[in-house]
Amino acid sequence: MSILNADLHCHSVVSDGTLTPEELAARAAANGVELWALTDHDEIGGQQRAAAAAHAHGMKYLTGTEISVTFAGETVHILGLGFDPEDPSMREGLAHTRGGRDARAQEMSRQLEAAGIKGAYEGALQYAGNPELVSRTHFARFLVETGVCADTGEVFRKYLTEGKPGYVEHRWASLKAAVQWITSAGGMAVIAHPARYRFTANEEYALFMEFKAHGGRGVEVVTGSHTPAEYVRYAETAREFGLAASRGSDFHSPGESHTDLGQLPFLPGELTPVWEMLADRIQ
Ligand code: AMP
Ligand code: MN
Ligand code: MN
Ligand code: MN
Repeated sequence: MSILNADLHCHSVVSDGTLTPEELAARAAANGVELWALTDHDEIGGQQRAAAAAHAHGMKYLTGTEISVTFAGETVHILGLGFDPEDPSMREGLAHTRGGRDARAQEMSRQLEAAGIKGAYEGALQYAGNPELVSRTHFARFLVETGVCADTGEVFRKYLTEGKPGYVEHRWASLKAAVQWITSAGGMAVIAHPARYRFTANEEYALFMEFKAHGGRGVEVVTGSHTPAEYVRYAETAREFGLAASRGSDFHSPGESHTDLGQLPFLPGELTPVWEMLADRIQ
């Protein structure tokens, strides 16, 4: 067992979380986290604040982000850890990925309006701490707050997923580009929550093979987005593909997230933790 309390996946107001980087750092430290990474979606604007707050609480820090990728027609999330946040191609790539979000949000709003829900774009924007990062989560909070749905889970079931009004097909970064941005900036690419993708066995195999071919080196095994059975399954996948393993809560908000920062089982001992391979990138 690897008994380091590392939490290498969570979100702040810089993407779709509800806490600031400083509030997250305080919460992580209070929960016993020793090594932390803030991994906002397609955005690294919170990295300096997160690193400073981590150090103020005596935690070690790794830079982080969670990049939206389109692979085999499905959205896949690739975590970048330990990269140089000043790297120009990483910064441009992320800016380009964020660039598609506003038009997508406006189209989502048009579709919701056709379904009888008015003002969703403006409503979602009010919840977005970063206007370049309007996400489905912000729409979900607006629809809960205005009483359309009881909770965000219901919003996703009824409105924001494939085949439902409010779902807009979107083309994110390619797998190859995302892995290259991360690795050329000195970081490690990690497949986030692999159990969440609706892939056939062949598609999943292709994802892992192509990810490795592009230079990807890690997979998230213990995450708030997996069940205990999925920890076992993806520990096996990590061994099979020779990938390092990561651990992260995917915490977004005290009111919405069921897994709090640092409150996860440790990584199974026979796996190589990503932080062992990133030792020289830890701040
Ligand atoms: P986006 O990047 O705009 O497509 O939004 C994706 C985000 O929506 C994810 O990172 C989650 O935070 C959130 N999300 C996706 N599916 C669900 C769900 N079923 N319930 C609650 N939140 C979800
Ligand atoms: Mn999210
Ligand atoms: Mn994700
Ligand atoms: Mn996430």
